[in-house]
Amino acid sequence: MKIKNCPGCLKPNYSSFCPRCVRVIFNDEKIEPIVNIDPELAARTFAVKETRLSISGVQRKHSVVFREGAVKIVISGGRYILKPIPGGRLEYIDFVPANEHLTMQMAKQVFKLKTAECGMLFSKSGEPYYFTKRFDRDISSGKKLIMEDFAQIAGKTEETGGGDYKYSFSYEKMASLIMEFTTAPKIEIEIFFSLIIFNYLFSNGDAHIKNFSIIEDNVTGGRILSPAYDLLSTGIHIPGESDMALDLFEGDFVTTAFKAGSKYTKEDFIVFAQKIGINNKRFTSIYEQFLDRTDKVYEMTDRSFLRDDIKDIYFKRYLERLERLKY
Ligand SMILES: [Zn+2]
Repeated sequence: MKIKNCPGCLKPNYSSFCPRCVRVIFNDEKIEPIVNIDPELAARTFAVKETRLSISGVQRKHSVVFREGAVKIVISGGRYILKPIPGGRLEYIDFVPANEHLTMQMAKQVFKLKTAECGMLFSKSGEPYYFTKRFDRDISSGKKLIMEDFAQIAGKTEETGGGDYKYSFSYEKMASLIMEFTTAPKIEIEIFFSLIIFNYLFSNGDAHIKNFSIIEDNVTGGRILSPAYDLLSTGIHIPGESDMALDLFEGDFVTTAFKAGSKYTKEDFIVFAQKIGINNKRFTSIYEQFLDRTDKVYEMTDRSFLRDDIKDIYFKRYLERLERLKY
């Protein structure tokens, strides 16, 4: 296993974590990207309870710490979450960790979205693991920050909403909860809108209500959208998956463009922006940022830990979605 780019930020020509990543991800502790992995983590298990085939349905998350060059599972106090290759029936399953890592870095670096810190680790035998740093604690004081995902905010559980409860919602309704429960909703709603476009552009079909949260701001104490997490191009692994995890609009509403083509295109996002209170000028300014980063998307994809043929698929999917957003 030869590492050529920083396994945190994908900066070229690093065989280990670059100084910025050592500082920001590991608080200056020296962690090697090739580690001893707790044997419990290496065993793949299968989740079968889900009603639909989804990445989150088969992905396991372990709370971990780094100790003496090894990754250990802990019951409490873990500062990182580690995700091995999932179990289940997915295309290119061994590349789920690299896909999530790339998509998170894409959001952070190319589209300047606020995301959780994350990186890749490898076992001695070369098995890949995605990890992310928890953000629900204040770094300096260690105080736990109040955080709720949108299932909690909306009061949705499997008991009240059935097996598909994470997907029985709309992004429009989520926006109304953001208006109600965040401290500066006009700012948060634009961040949310950007994230919805990003998810569409990168075929993230698993952005359900538990993959968004509102968190306490550790500086002001106000309520803000949490950094983005669990972003990946799920379409690569689940080819027949629906285009978005949730409908954009509440109820039966569809635009005329959608009625004609059964796909979300620019008109849908224009109407969606209007419905959630983003004016035309702000819409244009946010939306256009997503249309002109193709060179950077290509470059970032190329630096990732995906295999070359999967890089091609990833980039091609992006280009297809980009075309839809343009018209
Ligand atoms: Zn780095």
